[in-house]
Amino acid sequence: MDIDISKVSERLNLEEDILRSAIERRVISLCKYRDIRYIVFKKKVRHVERGTVLFLNENMDVVMGYPKIRRALVLDPTVKKYFVDKVVVEEKLNGYNVRVVKIDGNVLGITRGGRVCPFTTKKLLKLLDTEILKDYPGITLCGEMVGLNNPYVSHYYPEVDREICEGIRENLGLFIFDIREGSNSLPVEKRIELLEAYRVPHVKPLGVFKKEEVEEIKSIVLKLDREGREGIVMKDPDMLVDPIKYTTHYTHCQDLSVAFRYTFDLGIHFMFSRLVREGYQSYEFKEGEEELEKRAHSIGRSIIYSMVESIWKVARGELITEDFELYFENEEDLEEFLKYLKEVHISYVLKEKEVLKNSIFRVVIGKVYPSTRDKIKSYLEGSLW
Ligand code: ATP
Ligand code: MG
Repeated sequence: MDIDISKVSERLNLEEDILRSAIERRVISLCKYRDIRYIVFKKKVRHVERGTVLFLNENMDVVMGYPKIRRALVLDPTVKKYFVDKVVVEEKLNGYNVRVVKIDGNVLGITRGGRVCPFTTKKLLKLLDTEILKDYPGITLCGEMVGLNNPYVSHYYPEVDREICEGIRENLGLFIFDIREGSNSLPVEKRIELLEAYRVPHVKPLGVFKKEEVEEIKSIVLKLDREGREGIVMKDPDMLVDPIKYTTHYTHCQDLSVAFRYTFDLGIHFMFSRLVREGYQSYEFKEGEEELEKRAHSIGRSIIYSMVESIWKVARGELITEDFELYFENEEDLEEFLKYLKEVHISYVLKEKEVLKNSIFRVVIGKVYPSTRDKIKSYLEGSLW
């Protein structure tokens, strides 16, 4: 790999040997977006988080990986024990994590894994006013890209429905939830002030509570659940402790249904953790027999319907895919994105492609889940488990 190991080592404060070994083990890979070269940490190496990016430019700019947010299985007593005094409750949006940075004059969108994603990079320029990065070039805006029309986590949010061209609607939005400088986050109030001043769309607090007011937080969760939303992230106002998260029954069921649709591609671990969350939630909300029965029903439905649907699909000889409908401004953007999917080893089929007004391209991409299809097929043909 043609990189200056000693410079990188100095920049990241990582010994050269450790760097060399990480490169050999392919934990670090060399990537390119247009003529911008960078290296990515695919796993955590010492203090360097997964998803950390180091640009191979003059400055060797570093964008730290977005840290993991730990989960409370019960809100009471976890919130009381964990926080210092006050708790800011924000909505947890169900999309994908994006870090927005400005490198040598280019605004880039980096995914959780640490790749500059061409789809994200182009869309965010339409969705955000990036003036803030002119005045504060060293910051990282961290946000969630949400909506139906993105290639990673497709979930409808009514508030991001927008017209991209006469009669063509796209459901896509980006909400910033954190401003980081190196590994430090701005205090919540300061972050919101700054984002408001620059008219950047952001996640707004659902409330600020004393850490003892867990019952209020629980009612927020119930309300979000009824509205079919993902959950909450709780933060210390000054970001003195790391944020923690809690999610709704609705989301667990959604996740389970996805997990069983792609039974043999999404790991056991993924399914198990969702089921466990349900157990603790039922306990925390002191469910009686009737409520528990209702929960059991909806968990069961989430699992069985999607799993059986996949079995039928394979039996009919169909592919098992997860479909994403995307809009591109022109054919070059589409081609660039398809090339990128190959580079990151996502296998897909192009299911639909049409040109709309003003040369806007609408496509449907089916992400292929090969193990699910192969396994189901082989069981249906008589293989033993
Ligand atoms: P991890 O648990 O390691 O963070 P994950 O991909 O499983 O990774 P999630 O369970 O979705 O993550 O929860 C963390 C993610 O939630 C964050 O990385 C961020 O993208 C997203 N998120 C959505 N809304 C918020 C918010 N208001 N504040 C912080 N993060 C948020
Ligand atoms: Mg998420």
